Amino acid sequence: MKISEINKHTGQDILLCYQCQKCTATCPVSNFMDIKPDVVVRMSINGKLDNLMRSRTIWVCTGCETCGSRCPNLISVGKINEFMRQLAYENKISPAVKPALDIHLAFLNSIKRFGIVHEASMLAEFKLRTKDFLSDLKLGLKMFLKGKIPIKPHTIKGINEIKRIFEEK
Ligand code: SF4
Ligand code: SF4
Repeated sequence: MKISEINKHTGQDILLCYQCQKCTATCPVSNFMDIKPDVVVRMSINGKLDNLMRSRTIWVCTGCETCGSRCPNLISVGKINEFMRQLAYENKISPAVKPALDIHLAFLNSIKRFGIVHEASMLAEFKLRTKDFLSDLKLGLKMFLKGKIPIKPHTIKGINEIKRIFEEK
């Protein structure tokens, strides 16, 4: 894949990276990554996409955007990781961190349905996908009783635009 395509999909110019490593220094979860954020950019430039798609990093990344806000060239490694996750999914590469794909798909389906995350249906879908119904039961019940997992979903005004984005993918 050409660098211009990565730029197009992530909305930035990764060639501006001069390897200052600020992204790695500020990433809150870089200790759990097998490929550090600055190396993600270098590997993307060098076309090592297969290694990236098979890495833990793309599934560990929380998309918090700290990297993008600290980078002197406004490069978001989170956006690259997100793009690599999608590529890995399309290429049927199983995620290095299980069950990351299950939560990823449950999250995306929730956004597709409501335009915003609806925790109850997202968690239900996640549990159905993993078939692990008991492990967080106590915590889930506690959160539900505190009103942290509302049953009724909210929708947003631009829900049709969100649906259109998913249809165009
Ligand atoms: S902070 Fe920006 S310029 Fe520095 S290494 Fe990371 S992506 Fe490259
Ligand atoms: S978006 Fe991902 S790579 Fe960037 S700082 Fe957050 S967790 Fe780290």
